[in-house]
This record gives sequence, C-alpha cells and structure tokens, in this order.
Amino acid sequence: MIQAIKIHNDDNVAVAVGSQGLRAGEILESEGLKLIDDVPQGHKIALTDIPSGAPVIRYGVTIARAKDLIPAGSWVKEALVEIPPSPALDELVYKQPQEKKMEPLEGYTFMGFRNPDRSVGTRNILGISTTVQCVSGVVNHVVKVLKEKHLSSYPHVDDVVALNHSYGCGVAYNADDAFIPIRSVKNLTLNPNLGGEVMMVGLGCEKLEMKHLEAFLQTVDALPQERVSSLILQNEELKGFQSMVDALVRQGIEHLERLNKRRREECPLSDLVIGVQCGGSDAFSGLTANPSIGYAVDLLVRAGGTALFSEVTEVRDAAPVLASRCADKETFETLKKELDWYDSYLKRGGADRSANTTPGNKQGGLVNIVEKAMGSVVKSGSMNISGVLGPGERVSGKGLIFAATPASDFVCGTCQLASGISLQIFSTGRGTPYNLPIAPVVKLSSRRDLSQRWYDLVDLDTGDIAWGEAGIEETGWKLFHLIIEVASGRKPAAEALGLYNDLVIFNPAPIT
Ligand code: CA
Repeated sequence: MIQAIKIHNDDNVAVAVGSQGLRAGEILESEGLKLIDDVPQGHKIALTDIPSGAPVIRYGVTIARAKDLIPAGSWVKEALVEIPPSPALDELVYKQPQEKKMEPLEGYTFMGFRNPDRSVGTRNILGISTTVQCVSGVVNHVVKVLKEKHLSSYPHVDDVVALNHSYGCGVAYNADDAFIPIRSVKNLTLNPNLGGEVMMVGLGCEKLEMKHLEAFLQTVDALPQERVSSLILQNEELKGFQSMVDALVRQGIEHLERLNKRRREECPLSDLVIGVQCGGSDAFSGLTANPSIGYAVDLLVRAGGTALFSEVTEVRDAAPVLASRCADKETFETLKKELDWYDSYLKRGGADRSANTTPGNKQGGLVNIVEKAMGSVVKSGSMNISGVLGPGERVSGKGLIFAATPASDFVCGTCQLASGISLQIFSTGRGTPYNLPIAPVVKLSSRRDLSQRWYDLVDLDTGDIAWGEAGIEETGWKLFHLIIEVASGRKPAAEALGLYNDLVIFNPAPIT
C-alpha cells in the first residue's frame, strides 16, 4: 500500500494518498520518517527539515518558501509557506527548443463528419446562434419544438442546440478589448460540430448587430452562403410570438434537411482538434489525471492531430517552461504578448494570480497557484508548442497549441469551442458535472474515490496511478483510444445524461 507519492527526485515534499490521509506517529515507510502531524489525503508531507526561507520543492520546482522552519514529518499547509514571485515576462529569452524525437504515429483514424471548410466534426448538430441574450427565450422554445416534433425525422442529426450567451446588449462594441467577445460569437458559428450550417437569431436593437455577423460570414472561405440563415425578431413582418416560432422552425427544418444528408466517414487523426482543461483540481490532478492527458496529447500530436491547452492563470507561473517549448520565435512572442495582456487585465481589475486557486483547490491540498500551475501544465504533454491563439481565436495550425483563455471552466470551454475544438478532455479531482453543449467532454477523475462516488459522471478514472496499480503510459493510451471512440460517436457520461453548461463568452470590455 503506497502511503505517499514523491514526483521528482529533487522534491522535499510528498503527497499523502490513502483515502484517510496519514496519522501523526505513523511511519512513512519509503522514507523511514515518522509523521508529526495528521496529513489529509492530497496534502503534502515535509520529507526533510525545510529551514525558514528555504524552497518547498514539488515537480522539481520551487512551489513555495517556508515562513519558518518546517520540521520533517510535518503537514506542509498553506499557512506555513509563502508564494514565490511570478516569473517576469521581460526576462524570458527565446531559445530554439531541441527537436523533439517525435516518431509519427500512423494508422489511427476516426469516423467524423467532413465540413465544406475541410474541418471535421465529431457530432452533427444544428446550432442556433444568437447575437444577443434577449432572444434566448424564443430560441429555447424553438429548440424545444424542433427536438420534440421534428428531430426524429432527421435520424442523422445528433441534436439541436441554442448557442445562448450574455453578450450583445449594451456592450461597448468599439472598446479596446471588445474584439475578444465579438470574434468569439462569430467563430462559435463555425464550430466543426455544426456542419457548416449557420442559423442566426437577433433582436434588432443590440450593439452586436446581425449585419456584423453576416459581413464576417461572407469573408469565410468555403462557407456556402445558402447555408446561412438569419432572422431579426423585431422585423415588422413578424406578428407576435407564434409567428417568430413558426419562421424559425421553418428555417431550422431547412438546415436539418441538409444536415441529415451527412454521414460519418473515416478521417485521419490529423483532422481532429481537441481541447484539454481541468476544473475542480486537487493535488492528485497533477499526479494522475493531468499527466495521463499529457501522454494522450503527445500521442495525438504524433498522429498529426491538434490539441489546445489553455487556462492562462494556471500556466502563468510555468511561463519559463512554456517559453522553452515554443517551436519558433513568432510563437514565443505571441505567447509573451498573450500572457502580458492577461497580466494587465488582472491588474486592471485589482486582482492578481492569487485570485486563482479556489477554497476547494486548497482543501484538496494545493497550497497556491504555483503548485496548481505545475500540475496543470502537464496536461500539455511534452511536445513543442507550434502556435498560440488569443481567446476565441480560430485555430489554423496543427499540433500542440496554447489557446490563451481564462481558467474558469465554462469560459475556457466556450473560448475553445470558438477556436474550433470538436471534443474536450477534462480532468477533475474535486468533481464537476461540467459539460459543453456542442462538443462531447470526456471526464477524467484524479482519485478513485471520486470515480466511485460519481460512478455515472466519470468516463475514466486515473486514481490507480496513485496506488502504483496503473502507469501513466498505460492510462494515456486508454485515454487516446477513448478519444477516438468518442470522436467517432460514442457518448461520454455527461453527454449521455444530457447535462450542459451555459456558454459564457469572455468579455473583458465594458458594458454600458
Ligand atoms: Ca478550468
């Protein structure tokens, strides 16, 4: 029975793994060390005396400094340590990374839906886009009618979904950072799971006008304009609620007719774009689930596919690690620019990086954002970073891409959907029933007790890694195969249960 896990040879702390944690007086067999304190599961034990001011080392990096002497065998809790300074961006220097030994992985395919713009979806969904939240009540009603009365006539269409969000009304359309929510709303209409069909509903008096979206869609290559429809509810021809519903149902049926003609076909993994993120993290996330995701991401990238990792505030403290993995100077500069933008965004709001790490993270054993960052960034695997995207920016390159989004689960999810993911991998330690409305989410638990308690919400448990009963490599392969199955149509737990979170557009600009 493993009592505690030390990740890196240089670490002077280990993480308690037993479900009851460890008790004062117990001997930590691997170290021959007697515990001074009770240490809850997921929390850290000092393996040596850590003098005042000395680093607390986990993942081989300094995650904190001791405020006073922390004797060997103590529980290293938040109150005993200080957070180290954030790495300065202007001190980062570009250095060509070593060429990764990247044996191509051949012969893996998935069954996807090919779109006119050459993107490939994992689902065939009619998405109804909105320019403003005011229309969401009507759109929700239309979705209900389409699903209850019509969808069964279109057996090759997976779902009808309202792309509701809170942007559009009273927004400072021309403000500096307004391009972020605007491009997010625009790019969401092009998500590969929507089959190149764009159905839009607007109110008529909102700041984000339908004409802005229409003008944008006209610039999109390979989007046949006959597949684009729009309706403004303030249009004078519409007399009352029922006429709005009838008009939209008619439009919806035209889109459903075309979507229903599509079939899955065999596609190389180079056509697959996935996103990864974590939420409700604990100290196990960085030990079990996130390294497994990183392994699967490496496999996908080797197979020619694309993986987006995100969550700026969770990787900011790992900036030097990310910088050293940028494949070229341009990627490095864009990374610096995006991280710098986020630093000033937080500063403007009077927040700093300590705003990340939630009470739940801390109960789970994470003392601060540095520890969380190191455990989060392992989701990105080990490949070089081939591109960096701003929030909601559409992906164009392939390989491992950093999409600079907030870490908030549904905001990150919405940004990644706008960037063009067709599937997301999500790890959790504390547990969340999170799911995205237009892309399947594969949920990994970092601890066995979570997967047992939430037996019908978790797709893959990685907790066995903590007991030495499974390896990261083996679990990573399992996840890789699961990604292919889900991309080909298998429903993960949350999708099968029909759980969806609202889309939340990232809006750093003012609202009037
Ligand atoms: Ca998150």
